[in-house]
Amino acid sequence: MNAHRVMADLRELAARTSTPDGAQRLAWGPVWREARDWFRGKVAEIGLRVETDSAGNNWVTLPGASDRAVIVGSHLDSVPNGGWLDGCLGVLAALEALRVHAAQADEAPVTLKLVDWADEEGARFGRSLLGSSAAAGSLKIEEVRDLTDRQGTRLVDALAENGVLLDKMLDAHRELKVIDAGAYLELHIEQGPVLESMNKPTGVVVGTFGVERHMLRFTGQAAHSGSTPIPMRRDAFLAAAQTALECREIATRHSTPGAGVVCTVGVVNVEPKIVTAVPGICEISLDQRALDAGVLSAMHGEAREASARIARQNHVAVEWKHVWRIDPRPFDPHLVRLCEEAVGEETGDAPRLPSGPLHDAAEMVPHMPVVMMFASSSNGLSHCKEEDTPEPHLETTIRAYLRLVEKTIAHVSRSA
Ligand SMILES: [Zn+2]
Repeated sequence: MNAHRVMADLRELAARTSTPDGAQRLAWGPVWREARDWFRGKVAEIGLRVETDSAGNNWVTLPGASDRAVIVGSHLDSVPNGGWLDGCLGVLAALEALRVHAAQADEAPVTLKLVDWADEEGARFGRSLLGSSAAAGSLKIEEVRDLTDRQGTRLVDALAENGVLLDKMLDAHRELKVIDAGAYLELHIEQGPVLESMNKPTGVVVGTFGVERHMLRFTGQAAHSGSTPIPMRRDAFLAAAQTALECREIATRHSTPGAGVVCTVGVVNVEPKIVTAVPGICEISLDQRALDAGVLSAMHGEAREASARIARQNHVAVEWKHVWRIDPRPFDPHLVRLCEEAVGEETGDAPRLPSGPLHDAAEMVPHMPVVMMFASSSNGLSHCKEEDTPEPHLETTIRAYLRLVEKTIAHVSRSA
């Protein structure tokens, strides 16, 4: 049973690279290297070998009748005290796809390439999708040159310890462009509660959300909490709070059953932060996400308008500071259909959902057709030791993913 082999591999990897607190495969560190060494052994068992690109991404190639390639993969790195499925599920299911074809007498009609992206999590240096963004050519070297971890180790030194030269990382883009890629397929756990709430094992991912991330600074006047009558206050916190509530309304208004959007105020700083003072300054973060670029831009515009109106009503000023943004990355419609077929054949139903978290797959969207498949997450939990998927759901999802790989090979070979 193919799915059982994948689950056995996952358990073996977890046993080697976890403590009672969870997975410890922090990118560029010794446990991550051990996970990759173990993986190299698994690849050698099927007669193949691992090659590393200029950004530290690991590649395995199973040549087929055509150079046209189907790429399968995800990432082996984890956050500290992470789960046993995040990332490695996609790598080990991809390994099974190669194992099946390597054992066959006839070569596959197209080349199969497995990729284990380096440092997807960004848990140590704060930059997610490091390896895949280098391969995609979107990484800005100057933005990461001075990054350090909590111990003060510089990214550039951690990379060098692993044979990666920061200034050569973007060579990985040239190396990616040499591949005649017809598709990129990534299996991942959902990391959220949606599939579980529908009691579905497997979902078809239609794309990754675009993100607008800003800091909003409201400036009023700090004043004595006893002597200043309410109508005469310039309370920066209340203006921020009212804006946060209205942003939730905006998100609710733009959510439809098939196309939910989200927004989050995750940071609130007030000054002077004294129980007897009206807050004179309040800074909040605003993170808005949607799959549709038009919707995202409308949400963003409405939030700006609301903050300005609410600031006026509260006699305070508001200033916006851009933090980060990324466009929505919708997946390839044809591959989404193949994914629906594969999931439908295995489970009788193929729920579609967007991905709120970003994934390496998002970096591949500008360069080749992409689709992802999700396995349900128990209690919606991830990035913690409780992360899990019910065993029957895991098995079904792995089978659906292997079907998707076969369907994609057939599709890409027809268009080769
Ligand atoms: Zn992941």
